[in-house]
Amino acid sequence: MKLYNSASHQKEEFVPHTPGKVSMYTCGPTVYHFAHIGNLRSYIMEDVLEKFLRYDGYDVKRVMNITDVGHLASDADTGEDKMVKGAKREHKSVLEIAQFYTDAFFADCRKLNIKYPDVVQPATGMIDDYIKVISKLLDTGYAYFAGGNVYFDTSKLKQYYVFNDHDEEDLAVGVREGVEEDLNKRNKNDFVLWFTKSKFEDQALKWDSPWGVGYPGWHIECSCISMKYNGEYLDIHCGGIDNAFPHHTNEIAQSEAYLGHPWCKYWMHVHHLNTNHGKMSKSSGEFLTVSLLEEKGYDPLVYRFFCLQSHYRKSLIFSWENLDNAKTAYDKLVSRVAALSDDPAPVDEAAAAKYKAAFIEAVGNDLNTSLGVTALYDVLKADVNDATKRALIGSFDQVLGLDLLEKAAALREKASAPAEGAEEIEALITQRLEAKKAKDWAKADAIRDQLKAMGVEIKDSKEGTTWTRV
Ligand code: AMP
Ligand code: ZN
Repeated sequence: MKLYNSASHQKEEFVPHTPGKVSMYTCGPTVYHFAHIGNLRSYIMEDVLEKFLRYDGYDVKRVMNITDVGHLASDADTGEDKMVKGAKREHKSVLEIAQFYTDAFFADCRKLNIKYPDVVQPATGMIDDYIKVISKLLDTGYAYFAGGNVYFDTSKLKQYYVFNDHDEEDLAVGVREGVEEDLNKRNKNDFVLWFTKSKFEDQALKWDSPWGVGYPGWHIECSCISMKYNGEYLDIHCGGIDNAFPHHTNEIAQSEAYLGHPWCKYWMHVHHLNTNHGKMSKSSGEFLTVSLLEEKGYDPLVYRFFCLQSHYRKSLIFSWENLDNAKTAYDKLVSRVAALSDDPAPVDEAAAAKYKAAFIEAVGNDLNTSLGVTALYDVLKADVNDATKRALIGSFDQVLGLDLLEKAAALREKASAPAEGAEEIEALITQRLEAKKAKDWAKADAIRDQLKAMGVEIKDSKEGTTWTRV
């Protein structure tokens, strides 16, 4: 497969460290609030990458952290802790908040067909590892102790910025609007590895350490969790593009300083889901959740389909109109699959291999999921028997995760099942007809409304009245 690597700024042939195996790390959610559908765009695209690698024959191990400590309200090392803020808002303990929103996150993932990672590690469970790594960074001169905190010294690195041609001034912590300068820092990009002193004294979770009672910085958790479960060489690190700086930049700095050799080979960043008012974010602006989509009558897989229709390296604009278009296309796709016959004819293996190769070529080219969806339509149009089409759709869906065969089967079942409550509906329609004959329009309208409330829409024509469920 070819994958764009943010660290080399180009598309590269993917070659894992150990042939046939892929180690993958995903920055998990900060569990102080529900995930919004922007967060979930990142997880959907990372899920497709994982599934594609498995489809392509790799043995993948995917690790994810749960950020339940140490993620501050700003990306700098000052500000209010997001977890504490969430706990205060909901009058719960930090750990209750973390458990509730972790469960909510994975419930959303299930609805979106996002596979549960092989390893999920809450940050609070790894304190000894952080202490071990920070101690070594202090011993080797990559870290220093100042004003009660341990900082990483970015001036010790040959190269600090990895991902973009950042303007150092723009990114400088000390000059960003609303962010106070931390006078303990030797260099403006230095970041905290361990806090014992911070602006806010009410940090709920604290642990003993060689530097005093305190808590870890946000970045160290991902380095340690990844190294613990995926070893010294990581193949792919994923996250949303906002994580590239400073979070991933700092992860690289401390991991490579600790290990003494290059750490992660490929960096995959998913670009943002935006609304017309800008980036969707947990702390500001429009905040859309999977539950809200469901309340509005959308199948969560419609949102997955919407995401697959565009490339992960382009920002994606969310609007209800765009989602409606995706819904129409998804429903149509399911109906087309439902229309395929159940004929148990033998699968045309030669033709199937050709279509599979085209699918792998499309998705394997830097995860071009929209071409992957096009490959599905090509199968539906293909001059092969329906058994072959079904087999191919089931196969591609191992990667796309749209439940096409299951939804098609459900649609067919619904169409063939005797309509539940049909007798009652027919009786009401007859009563309405009689009311109309008797010119009792109020009664006729009332019955129509009653049917509507039951989810039944009626249509009058010369041939009589027909009804459908809506
Ligand atoms: P958080 O829970 O805030 O740490 O974010 C979880 C994941 O969602 C991270 O990988 C973020 O980079 C990503 N993310 C945050 N906002 C967006 C957005 N609007 N669109 C896509 N991904 C996002
Ligand atoms: Zn991370």
